[in-house]
Amino acid sequence: MKKLWTGSMFLILVLSLYGQSLNFEELTSKEIRELAKANVTVIVPIAQIENHGLYLPVATDLYLTREICRKAAEKNGKSIVAPAIQLGNCSDYTAWPGYIVVRNQTFLDIVEDYLSSLKQQGFQNVVFCLMHGGHNFNSIDIAVSERNRELGMKVQIVSMNVLMSPIWKEISELLLKGKIDPELTMMMALKPNLIKDEKSAGKMAQPQLPSFMGLGRYYDPEYTLDKIAPDGMVAYSEKATAAIGEKLMDMLSSGLAERVLKRLTD
Ligand SMILES: [Zn+2]
Repeated sequence: MKKLWTGSMFLILVLSLYGQSLNFEELTSKEIRELAKANVTVIVPIAQIENHGLYLPVATDLYLTREICRKAAEKNGKSIVAPAIQLGNCSDYTAWPGYIVVRNQTFLDIVEDYLSSLKQQGFQNVVFCLMHGGHNFNSIDIAVSERNRELGMKVQIVSMNVLMSPIWKEISELLLKGKIDPELTMMMALKPNLIKDEKSAGKMAQPQLPSFMGLGRYYDPEYTLDKIAPDGMVAYSEKATAAIGEKLMDMLSSGLAERVLKRLTD
């Protein structure tokens, strides 16, 4: 076992020396075989394509989740980031154009096949990392609990909400006073050229949600999200900055590296 760890650390060191990211998609088949033998942890970013208000692109979740996973893999040093699962059941966002919905069953099948593929190649440890909770979190849980009885892998499912909860006080100091949307700040840091029409977006009010909406899922035709927030759920704040976004991504990726990856890789 000790020898395997030495092997994985050496391989990752060699990869990073050659300026390669720890990205499954950019590695050769031979390198992936070696990393599987060395039992590195595989991080799978999960995102959905859906409306993100007037000024953020519909793939916001994808860009942010991938980046947080990439930073976490770099900090951990014994993990790689696998191709994202970028389609999910975002059926509660279909009031606005810009979505691709896959049904729950399709999503369950993708997650099960994904896990089986990793197992066939020799990987044992997998972390699914979601930008949002909702349908996809539940579906991954069902898919993993069903399939993993047979596969016997170590799998952890985490969402950004889960990563935020132990550092909630620091995060609220960073965001709440300025009513700053976390996704906006992180996109300012990561892909500022994709933020559209900031000035007109600045006039958009923060949507006022009825209090029951914070209490788990609801299904009620009178309270569809587009009636409450016609342009989408993300509101602009003048106080949002790229520096805040950079800090937030750093906190979330450290949370992923220290609270999740460390346990699997040490
Ligand atoms: Zn989002």
